[in-house]
Amino acid sequence: MAVVGMSTQKALETRLADICGHLNALHGQLVELMVEVLEAGAWQGGGIHSPAHWLAWQSGLSPSRARQIVALAQRHAQLPVTFAALTAGELAVDQVAVVASHAPDRCDQEACELAKAATVSQLRSVLSKYRFDPAPAEDSAAAPVEPGRRDHCVSGYDDDGRFILHAGAPAAEGAIIDQALREAHDALFRAGHKDVTQLDALIEVCTRSMGAIKSPSRRSLFKIHVHVDTEGAWLHHGPALPAHVRDRILCDGVLVPVWETEGRPINTGRAARAIPEQTRIAVQNRDRRCRNPICQATRRLEIHHVLHWLQLGPGETWNLACLCTRCHDAHHRGEFTITGNADLPDGLTFRDRAGRIMHPGARANPPNQPPEPPPKPYAHPTGERLQPHWMHFNTG
Ligand SMILES: [Zn+2]
Ligand SMILES: [Zn+2]
Repeated sequence: MAVVGMSTQKALETRLADICGHLNALHGQLVELMVEVLEAGAWQGGGIHSPAHWLAWQSGLSPSRARQIVALAQRHAQLPVTFAALTAGELAVDQVAVVASHAPDRCDQEACELAKAATVSQLRSVLSKYRFDPAPAEDSAAAPVEPGRRDHCVSGYDDDGRFILHAGAPAAEGAIIDQALREAHDALFRAGHKDVTQLDALIEVCTRSMGAIKSPSRRSLFKIHVHVDTEGAWLHHGPALPAHVRDRILCDGVLVPVWETEGRPINTGRAARAIPEQTRIAVQNRDRRCRNPICQATRRLEIHHVLHWLQLGPGETWNLACLCTRCHDAHHRGEFTITGNADLPDGLTFRDRAGRIMHPGARANPPNQPPEPPPKPYAHPTGERLQPHWMHFNTG
């Protein structure tokens, strides 16, 4: 893969954002034209059996794309805010299509705001599962409408295998969740994680909750099962996991060997930690913080095999080092390398992608620096996270 300079990449992204803005606006014009075509019945003619058929013939679009444009034209009048954003270049036609097929008229404004921040996959996942309240009856204006909407908490995986969670709750219950997140956020920040997100805080709350389970039978009942074979790894009843996540799990998980014949499991071995408990305690006591010199966080520590487990790196203390979950993930994603003897105080060498040694002072180039958002006119969704607070649709 060719390495592109930052300035070239920036210039290309700027042009892309410009082109996408124009493309979105043109799609908006296309939808508006179809509104006129539908109103005038201008599509009708010999041999044409639907507006989409006419559009596909006239434009060279695929039948499915033509059907999408016609479906959008049919909802144009009901979602003025969303369609204005399309014509203004702020939303892409596929984002608008998801809103148009799921969001009721009264959620126009909020669905539009959500769409600006979400990928098409995220929108599909969230809007298709969201239980919008039934529309208030015309004559019920005087009746009190519950402003808290329906209480719900929905979670699952989207088309890309990303986990999606959204929830709505009454204020009192919400305050408990909010305070728990704030506390976890604060605890992580004090432990050295300087760029903590709400998602980190939520994972911290859940990790503590799982860690607090005392009963061994419940512990084994609520384990996270990951299947691993030579082809890759996948969550039990869930999506496939990228190779770097598999490698990270193999560093510090509980492994149960399964023998198979012709694809059928025939026997399982004893469950064993990738790192024996005594060794784990010794490594945790020795390190007490993330060994990455530019991080040094003290919470959410995992144990990493310096020579990777799949490369038959031994589970001995000289080959094991504490890394925080973020650094552990970043390392397995290839953000930096680690070599050396973990038993020596300065025995490990961390090098960034360019091969430069990472020093405590070199914070200017942290591994998880978020990409710069592209400039207007089309600000694409980051695709990173779907914040639960976006998920309140004021439909009352
Ligand atoms: Zn690891
Ligand atoms: Zn770290």
